[in-house]
Amino acid sequence: MNRAYDVIVVGAGILGASTAYHLKCNGVRRVALFERRRPAAGGTGKSAAIVRQHYSTALLARLTKESIGMFTTMPDQIGADSGYVGSGWVFLVPDIIIEAARTNVTDLQSCGVETRFLDDDEIAVRLPWLNPQDVAGVVYEPHGGYADPVRTTEAYVKGFCDLGGELRINTPVRALLRKGDAVIGILTDDGPIEAGNVVNAAGPWSKFLTEDAGIEMDLRSIREQDTVWEARGDRPIPEISISNGVDAIYLRPLGQRRFVVGRGYPKDYFDVDPYNYKETADEAFVSDVQARLEHRFPPFAGARRIDSYAALYDVTPDWYPYIGPRKGLQGYYDACGGSGHGFKIGPAIGRHLALWISENVVDEDFARLSYDRVVTGKMFVGAYGGNRA
Ligand SMILES: Cc1cc2nc3c(=O)[nH]c(=O)nc-3n(C[C@H](O)[C@H](O)[C@H](O)COP(=O)(O)OP(=O)(O)OC[C@H]3O[C@@H](n4cnc5c(N)ncnc54)[C@H](O)[C@@H]3O)c2cc1C
Repeated sequence: MNRAYDVIVVGAGILGASTAYHLKCNGVRRVALFERRRPAAGGTGKSAAIVRQHYSTALLARLTKESIGMFTTMPDQIGADSGYVGSGWVFLVPDIIIEAARTNVTDLQSCGVETRFLDDDEIAVRLPWLNPQDVAGVVYEPHGGYADPVRTTEAYVKGFCDLGGELRINTPVRALLRKGDAVIGILTDDGPIEAGNVVNAAGPWSKFLTEDAGIEMDLRSIREQDTVWEARGDRPIPEISISNGVDAIYLRPLGQRRFVVGRGYPKDYFDVDPYNYKETADEAFVSDVQARLEHRFPPFAGARRIDSYAALYDVTPDWYPYIGPRKGLQGYYDACGGSGHGFKIGPAIGRHLALWISENVVDEDFARLSYDRVVTGKMFVGAYGGNRA
């Protein structure tokens, strides 16, 4: 068996596509991207794709900031658009976490993130569509917004192919080939293919590849439902992305008075089999979201439901992704575990991971994302209670 590729990337979601593209940018000669369906066929394609730097560690805030720069320069870099709209982002803060949010905003400002609390006059002027009852504060991030997750992923795939990368769609990877302490390639329906390095960017399906190869993977597959609504009439409606921590919903504009609306934390998380789960939304979920939406944003009273669906994301124990090599295992890199917020950090993660693979260059903070943290117990800890990012 000849070594066919320097690097094989498995999965063309945002993490795999960005990593593959950046490997080619770094001059890696033979790179192949294997995708069992088509680019963005997984959770990426259904992502609400809300972009905000409001995180409780400098690492994730920095990765989002870097990704925003990448979204906006994509047309010049790749010749394709990410659909990024820097509409701004607001976070409606409930009383129970207001002090933590204040500390977080101050910390983020000291990291160079433009973010602040709006005062009451600004709230009245900027958010005329808001019912302010029980809202303890409003955090505003002018550079947040949203992107088009399919266009972003397709742009990276296009850039990858333009640079000579080999895209294999409709080609599931059936197994990782392992020899002792090294992953040496993949198995497809056409047989084994050897590679110097394999990147596992198969999202919720990553764990099947690792488990079969005897590689540990603590990863959940969660079913996430979203709805799409169209506001009737001509009352002012939001033009920005919103994380509504008071009613635990999020909103992202789609244009033409339409919005993606989903449930945010706290809520129940349901583990499912990624090969067999219900892809339509539950009616009880849709009604619940509608009630929360109409209560907080009165112009949505009587809004028309346009769509509703369920998709998947993969969740790690600390809600931080698994990125990078593992101690004691050669030729293998994780690029999974986006944990419900992996789209916005995906572009920058792909860039840093590609540098790690091709040049063995990585900064200490980014290296903490390796799966090794599970083994050593050095998990990330969030600022809002629990261990969410
Ligand atoms: C409904 C929803 C809303 C979300 N909202 C947001 C948000 O507002 N902001 C945000 O930042 N994040 C959000 N997320 C999370 C974010 O979208 C995901 O974390 C991110 O897109 C995951 O990307 P990925 O590349 O790791 O995985 P995926 O997109 O799942 O990609 C994995 C790919 O691997 C392929 N694959 C699987 N197995 C194989 C195999 N054996 N061989 C070959 N290919 C394989 C799949 O077909 C798929 O294309 C949301 C997710 C969902 C589902």
